[in-house]
Amino acid sequence: MPQKEDESEKEMIPKSFQIFGHEFKVIFQDDLIVEEEAVGTYRHGKHLITIQNNGKGVTILKSRQEQTFFHEITHCILDQMGEEKLYHNEKFVDLFSQCLHQILKTAKY
Ligand SMILES: [Zn+2]
Repeated sequence: MPQKEDESEKEMIPKSFQIFGHEFKVIFQDDLIVEEEAVGTYRHGKHLITIQNNGKGVTILKSRQEQTFFHEITHCILDQMGEEKLYHNEKFVDLFSQCLHQILKTAKY
C-alpha cells in the first residue's frame, strides 16, 4: 500500500528558479545568522537567495527555513517587478509570503 503523503515532508525549497527568464539560485550557509544576523538573505546583484543551514552549529526548523525562503522570494519577486515600496514593506512581504507558502504546502492536485 502506498504511504500517505505527509505534507510536512513535501520539498519546498528548490536549488534554483526563474523570474522573467532570469535564473536565481538558492544556497544554504552554515553561519549566515552569524555573518548577517538573519536566517535568510536576497542578493539582488548576485541573483542569489541564501538560507541558514540546519545542523552545523545552528539549529533551525525546516518550517522556519521554508518560511524564510518564501519571504526572500517575495522580496525577489517585488524587486524584479520594480515594486520598490512594497519591497521594503516587511509586513506585506511577511503576510504575502505566508499565504504563498501555505497555498503551495496544502495544494492538492
Ligand atoms: Zn524581509
